[in-house]
Amino acid sequence: MKIAETFVEKPKTLAELCADLTAGRIKAVDLANGYYQRIEKVNPHLNVYLSLTRERAMAQAERVDALARKGDPLPPLAGVPMGIKDVLMMQGAPATAGSKILEGYRPPYDATVVTRLESAGAVLLGKLNCDEFAMGSSNENSAYGPVRNPVDPERVPGGSSGGSAAAVAANLAAGTLGTDTGGSVRQPASFCGVVGVMPTYGRVSRYGLIAFASSLDRIGPFAANVRDAATLLNVIAGHDAHDATSSPAPVEDYAVESDQPAAGLRVGVPAEYFGEGLDPEVGATIEKGIEALKAAGCVVKPVSLPHTKYAVPTYYLIATAEASANLARFDGVRYGYRSPHSATLAAMYSHSRNEGFGAEVKRRILLGTYALSAGYYDAYYLKAQQVRRLLAEEFLRAFAEVDAIVTPTSPVPAFKLGEKTGDPLAMYLADIYTVTASLAGICGVTVPCGATSGGLPVGMQVLARHLCESTAFRIARTVEEASS
Ligand code: GLN
Repeated sequence: MKIAETFVEKPKTLAELCADLTAGRIKAVDLANGYYQRIEKVNPHLNVYLSLTRERAMAQAERVDALARKGDPLPPLAGVPMGIKDVLMMQGAPATAGSKILEGYRPPYDATVVTRLESAGAVLLGKLNCDEFAMGSSNENSAYGPVRNPVDPERVPGGSSGGSAAAVAANLAAGTLGTDTGGSVRQPASFCGVVGVMPTYGRVSRYGLIAFASSLDRIGPFAANVRDAATLLNVIAGHDAHDATSSPAPVEDYAVESDQPAAGLRVGVPAEYFGEGLDPEVGATIEKGIEALKAAGCVVKPVSLPHTKYAVPTYYLIATAEASANLARFDGVRYGYRSPHSATLAAMYSHSRNEGFGAEVKRRILLGTYALSAGYYDAYYLKAQQVRRLLAEEFLRAFAEVDAIVTPTSPVPAFKLGEKTGDPLAMYLADIYTVTASLAGICGVTVPCGATSGGLPVGMQVLARHLCESTAFRIARTVEEASS
């Protein structure tokens, strides 16, 4: 663990950065340059950034400095250096989604979240590595090589937003965006010891996101602490006419709400998340977090989520079915890679897809196409939709009794690179604690809760009902205070 320690560094909090800028102790331009220097030094070890957007970042930093010089009030993310997962569009910058098939593709527009971050003053440093099309739990499915965990570079950072989690843990950004379809914000955040948020489905616009499974995809922030994560959500949340699934519900001030004490909140603990397969050290760390919640005045009680055992197969049917449809557009004609050696159009499609997609993506396209095919649709896809409904109803029943539900985010801490690549099924099964909330559409936050005896971070997942992000933040804040 010796080399490892050199890569972990806590970023300044957003409040500290803002105070420094306002008081003129630092300029946004110098801050951005400092981050680029650290990226140059550390990125070769961790493979977090796939590309840098230096020109755009420096222009934005200069705009922020001009505002500060005038003495104008600064927007909430003024000068905050951030990184963006490479499945989100920044106009003119590469957007590979971790895939060879999108090599050379440059999107013609910005994702809504990118526009919102920049309007709030954020300085976007570059694009972050991830599993190909966000499919994976270890970042080992990236066509551009795995990301390494800053806590221990022999280990995976989790996935699919491994770059987004590692960037914050190693202070290669003060905050980042990732996406969570079945756990891809929460699980890597927990592996790297940072905070990650999966907002309610529809809370954050998906416009400008390269889709994996459209009924499950969420965009969410990573930060070094709960309050900063809440501030980032403040900026990106809210209705967007470009995304028909985005919610018109008003956006709360999550940062202010996260300051409220958690005393009196009812917290449910589902036995189904503490059984077989849970690493004992992870379990013990989460138990300590639960004790801290009791000590802070929360009312802790058991809840039951008996259909949890069906969540992994349900998720992997629905997610792959939707992926097979979403990925049909990558045909060698419209985007990115085209195979050079094809005599006919059909061969060009086939070779481009065969050479452009990696093994995991192909596995999922095949699984999904099969699940949707005539004769199997009812047995697989339709059945999975019915179970999804049951899982969602089960959560709502539990939320009639409690305000939040706490669980481990992952049954195991960060594992070694290569340890699970030979067994895709074992990799899928480890998503057991995160895919349920994805299917139900509810929100969740993961917060560092402690570490194993070997020093690996353990994250607690705090789930709350639709649009109740504030409740999850309040609980997470209490756990954070107790464990730091
Ligand atoms: N690990 C899950 C999968 O491989 C989740 C991925 C995600 O949330 N994007 O599908």
